[in-house]
Amino acid sequence: APLVGVLALQGGFHEHKVMLARVGAKVTEVRQPKDLTAALHALVIPGGESTTMAHLARHLDLLQPLREFVASGRPVMGTCAGLIFLAKDVDGQKEGGQELVGGLDVTVHRNHFGSQVDSFQTTLTASFAPDRQIEAVFIRAPAITRVGHGVSILSSLDKKVVGLDPDGGQLAVAVQQANLLGVAFHPELTTDDSWHKYFMEMILSSLKK
Ligand code: GLN
Repeated sequence: APLVGVLALQGGFHEHKVMLARVGAKVTEVRQPKDLTAALHALVIPGGESTTMAHLARHLDLLQPLREFVASGRPVMGTCAGLIFLAKDVDGQKEGGQELVGGLDVTVHRNHFGSQVDSFQTTLTASFAPDRQIEAVFIRAPAITRVGHGVSILSSLDKKVVGLDPDGGQLAVAVQQANLLGVAFHPELTTDDSWHKYFMEMILSSLKK
């Protein structure tokens, strides 16, 4: 079975471990640079609080090793704060704002859904399963407001359905760029393992290369 590391500095890493085990991965926690070994086939960056995660990663000298892991081409999934951490830019942030691992060519807007719908649950379709409704839990979630070339949108939300805009329109909430999968919501907090299964397929196909 592939060995998947879960960044375990703070946030919802435990639920990811459970989900990854359920889809057939061997799982290990990443807490310091020495945990990011060559033996890891993939990495998950969980939700939580992206500025806290960045401070901890800086303090533990994990930022550079994380960037190297991303650049190594091995699959990395970032969920919610993990997506923010993987993004190239954060909207509305000045020079020298929060530190990011980067690598995923998107801009994200933190806490996009504001206080009124701060947390909500909905169903989404994904491009890899267009005829299935997948449960999605959003908790002070970011939105993806810019998508670079080479980034594909796997899932979007209808702005009308979530009360963001009566005129509707689509908002990207899950994207992929080569080895990087970024998801604005919390797939580990539902019983639907579709996103982890999809990530597992990315891992298995990366192992064939
Ligand atoms: N609002 C958090 C942030 O900006 C993300 C929330 C989450 O991961 N559930 O980092």
